[in-house]
Amino acid sequence: MSDFSSLMKQANYIGGKWVGADSGKTLDVTNPATGEVIGTVPDCGAAETDRAIAAAAEAFATYSRTDLSFRVDLLHKLVQALLDNQEPLARLLTAEQGKPLAEARGEIAIGAAYVRWFAEEIRRAKGEIVPSPTSDRRLLVTRHPVGVVGAITPWNFPSSMLARKLGPALAAGCTMVIKPAEATPFSGLAWAKLAEDVGFPPGVINVVTGSPAAIGGAIMASPDVRKVTFTGSTRVGKLLIRQSADTVKKVSMELGGNAPFLVFDDADLEAAVQGAMISKFRNMGQTCVCTNRFYIQSGIHDAFVERLKEAVGELKLGEGTRQGVTQGPLINEAAVQKVESFIADATKKGGTIVKGGGRSDLGGTFFEPTIITGANGSMNFTREEIFGPLAAIYRFGEEKEAIEAANATAYGLAAYAYTRDVGRIFRLNEELEYGLIGINSGLITTVEAPFGGLKESGLGNEGGSQGLEDYLELKYVCMAGI
Ligand code: ADP
Repeated sequence: MSDFSSLMKQANYIGGKWVGADSGKTLDVTNPATGEVIGTVPDCGAAETDRAIAAAAEAFATYSRTDLSFRVDLLHKLVQALLDNQEPLARLLTAEQGKPLAEARGEIAIGAAYVRWFAEEIRRAKGEIVPSPTSDRRLLVTRHPVGVVGAITPWNFPSSMLARKLGPALAAGCTMVIKPAEATPFSGLAWAKLAEDVGFPPGVINVVTGSPAAIGGAIMASPDVRKVTFTGSTRVGKLLIRQSADTVKKVSMELGGNAPFLVFDDADLEAAVQGAMISKFRNMGQTCVCTNRFYIQSGIHDAFVERLKEAVGELKLGEGTRQGVTQGPLINEAAVQKVESFIADATKKGGTIVKGGGRSDLGGTFFEPTIITGANGSMNFTREEIFGPLAAIYRFGEEKEAIEAANATAYGLAAYAYTRDVGRIFRLNEELEYGLIGINSGLITTVEAPFGGLKESGLGNEGGSQGLEDYLELKYVCMAGI
């Protein structure tokens, strides 16, 4: 089945009911590949969000006390529902986001894998009995669900970014108020529909669409929301951290990146080009772990650029549902203009366009995959996240120089390096100020490992056993007089 109409809910899910905005207003959702409106979602604000928080708080009282086996079973049913509906979910994702269907299918699969991982991991979330300094006491450390969780998700991975939040939250016994991104709300709403179908109780999951500032503001202001998990821009992340202060909420932040990709003279050239392609052009360059700066050592520089040009020449642009397409449109006109301004700035400062360089003949927001050589530290993309299909190539001489340049940013999410020198690999592990480091791989995200940024790229981790910890609170109990 590939028709997604039954999964495309044009309503919000609050307290177990599908509802519209109080005002009756809606927002259009468009397909970025065609500009067509594919549907509408409610334009909600603070009042509807407060009701969703109240529903989540009421549900928390019972859901947090359900049997562990009940929650684990429900999560496994949700995994199965996601996999059973992989094709329509992927088509819905491509329709609202634009990514090639193969990538969309992969995103649904990894989303299901995250939920499965946390359904397994919660069964091992053990407490501790700590040796007491005196023999009349027993000291226990126990774990408890943190409470109602607010989850704010981005448009670039509207399904799998939700999975990394929803999986651990529901496994731990938390309830949720979810705010999907305005460009891509249907994927998150589809999760709520499947969760309803498999039997999650009313109020456990609530999804509200509409004004980001109003919905976000209500979530941040509520004392009932004990934790907020956010994936998005550093700008909005900083705003939410500030807003979290008044109610001292726990926050997890997956923010922007500025990933360096280092290729040393001793690298396997073919592997480096392959890794460069996936780390740069996946999702049209619109991921927070996408390479922003390629640092290539002098001895391998020219060969790397030649091979990268050939590989970029093989990319196929088009609507994500078409056979063989590897590059869809960018999310919107603003994203295109941002890439254009980076290119204009770089060429003015001495950069050379060796591939692409402008809008595609396909029109709309399709953009040619682009390579610029001769990049230098004065260019805007050295500091700012590109979030588009533009590869900026810097040349370097010594290892130390490359590491210093790689670290010269406020961000610290992903970094990549290609080398066959084991000593250097350990130096990179120690010196690179990044939370995620890919050695001889341009694609390293996996459910088993923690995903999180250093510096201004974020707080906390998603995935791995660490991804559960943020949803559990510790209590220490001292039992005396024993
Ligand atoms: P991007 O620039 O990639 O769109 P954003 O940080 O703007 O990243 O968006 C990520 C998520 O944050 C989206 O769901 C968006 O609606 C939401 N968002 C944007 N502004 C706010 C805000 N003031 N409060 C809460 N959420 C917001």
